Amino acid sequence: MTSRPFRFEVLARDAQSRARRGRIATARGAVDTPAFMPVATVGAVKGVTPQELRQLGAELLLVNAYHLSLRPGAELIAELGGLSSFMGWDGPILSDSGGFQVFSLAELVNLGEDGVRIRSHLDGSMQFLTPERVIAVEEALGVDILMPLDDCPPYPCDRSRVEEAVARTGRWLERSRAAWRSEGALFGIVQGGVSPELRARSAERAASLDLPGYAVGGLSVGEPRELCYEIASSSADHLPVDRPRYLMGTGTPQDLIRLVSMGYDLFDCVLPTRNARNGSLFTASGRINIRNARFARDPSPPDPRCDCPVCARFSRAYLRHLSVSGELLSAVLNTIHNLRFYLRLMSELRAALEQGRFPVYTSRALAELAGEVRETE
Ligand SMILES: [Zn+2]
Repeated sequence: MTSRPFRFEVLARDAQSRARRGRIATARGAVDTPAFMPVATVGAVKGVTPQELRQLGAELLLVNAYHLSLRPGAELIAELGGLSSFMGWDGPILSDSGGFQVFSLAELVNLGEDGVRIRSHLDGSMQFLTPERVIAVEEALGVDILMPLDDCPPYPCDRSRVEEAVARTGRWLERSRAAWRSEGALFGIVQGGVSPELRARSAERAASLDLPGYAVGGLSVGEPRELCYEIASSSADHLPVDRPRYLMGTGTPQDLIRLVSMGYDLFDCVLPTRNARNGSLFTASGRINIRNARFARDPSPPDPRCDCPVCARFSRAYLRHLSVSGELLSAVLNTIHNLRFYLRLMSELRAALEQGRFPVYTSRALAELAGEVRETE
């Protein structure tokens, strides 16, 4: 077996919840956890350079193996020295298989035991994703964390389909593990819909493979919020405490705070970047839409408590003007602010965990985000 640089250590724990402050070591540097991964699907975070991402506090980026394999192709990227060098990001990278997008975009043509047959959204060509091919693509990209192909059922979904997805996700994980050769760390994925029992079955099967880390998938797919929390919490219970836990594709700042308290360490979400392009900005006292007419003459920064380069220089009035004028700079500046908001939230959560004030910090942050605390307080 290849010797792998991937390590996870827990540096501090909250006494009242399962929250932990940790650190992941990879060949391309460390990731302080809990951590948020900006989404760089095709090898770029829309509108933001790798250097800016680093300055905003990003340590780990998420890319999509399926998208990159279609264009420009994994072999081309390998030929040019791997994804890190290709995209000019020298930090660690996590690659999602793209399975979730395949299932959610309904490009699905046929799902069988061997793999999933889909039609490319780029040129209509038939593509056949198998657990082995996904690993081969991720190893050609040279990423630090590899996500296997899984079977992600929709919500709502009948129990027999969820049972089938759990069994298939387990078998595909075993095939992925057998195909895995590189230095990168393979994570197991837990499915199981909204059934605590199927989640437990899926988590225990994944954990039996003794992998470097584990992810919980198939949540935030339309189920009620409280149910998502309940399932996230029970799934975490069945995963080993000494491995990082990644909750895939979630969520709002409030969600991240709740999930950190359940013992999750890694997160990714398109909200900060996608919302930015629609003029929706995160602030400590809740979300604002910068396109709103009430900001037309507002000279204050987007978020008076933000330390990002956008809030240091620009007013709400100017950002509103850029957004309603459809300027490219609008998306760039809004994305920088929103990503800094998410990345600063994670750094504040880590500091609160180190200093033993996680409960105080989180109850205040949740109240502020809900607009229950005035800025002057
Ligand atoms: Zn800002």
